[in-house]
Amino acid sequence: MIEIQNVRKSFGQLEVLKGIDLNVEKGEVVTVIGGSGSGKSTLLTCINGLEPIVSGKILVDGTEVHAKSTDLNKLRQKIGIVFQQFNAFPHLTVMENVTLAPRKVLGMGKAEAEAIAEKHLNHVGLGDKLGTYPTRLSGGQQQRMAIARALAMSPDYMLFDEVTSALDPQLVGEVLETLKMLAEEGMTMILVTHEMSFARDVSDRVAFFHKGIMAEIGTPAELFENPQHPETQSFLASVR
Ligand code: ATP
Ligand code: MG
Repeated sequence: MIEIQNVRKSFGQLEVLKGIDLNVEKGEVVTVIGGSGSGKSTLLTCINGLEPIVSGKILVDGTEVHAKSTDLNKLRQKIGIVFQQFNAFPHLTVMENVTLAPRKVLGMGKAEAEAIAEKHLNHVGLGDKLGTYPTRLSGGQQQRMAIARALAMSPDYMLFDEVTSALDPQLVGEVLETLKMLAEEGMTMILVTHEMSFARDVSDRVAFFHKGIMAEIGTPAELFENPQHPETQSFLASVR
């Protein structure tokens, strides 16, 4: 379980998270929507300890992310994260990209790492691209490779930050399908997305962020059909 308790985060004078409270249960899919600069990406980077926080607490399976005693490298093995921009190693094949962390971080042998990588690459539909270099992949394929790379670490949680935003429109669907498949398999995920119909389809709960505050959270039906907060209403009107 991920527990976010009254989290405040600033960059210099700018307070970007103003007391966020959110619990994400095992198996839950929570989508975060909201305007540019509302703090969505910052929340994800705080959850896996990439960014320090000013006050409050984030607990992952009871371990406090920002406690000095926490082994962040170990904690991050539980939390896969995929970003908007692809960050593949161009000089390594798809297989080498996906086996790198299991081998280097988990100390896995080559054969075992390759078997796991192949399983995940098959799963995301890249079983025929094992020896290909990432520069030869389409944007959608590169994002699916990034998802397979995160899955190869056997994470308990996955964080996705607008993984389809940089893609040509015709490539968005295949990546969303992959995310939906993971959700249906019970992966616990927090997704930041601008794809409203996808959010409605895949989420257990949807959170609306506005200027560093979680203005509203509810089921997709509650949030999309009966938004309570005026800012949620105007945001949804602007993206529809
Ligand atoms: P978008 O939808 O555009 O991705 P967002 O909701 O993800 O927006 P964040 O990236 O979390 O927004 O940014 C929240 C605020 O924090 C913004 O005002 C941004 O300029 C600021 N910010 C984010 N990262 C940094 C940083 N590394 N240094 C300074 N300010 C930052
Ligand atoms: Mg962002």
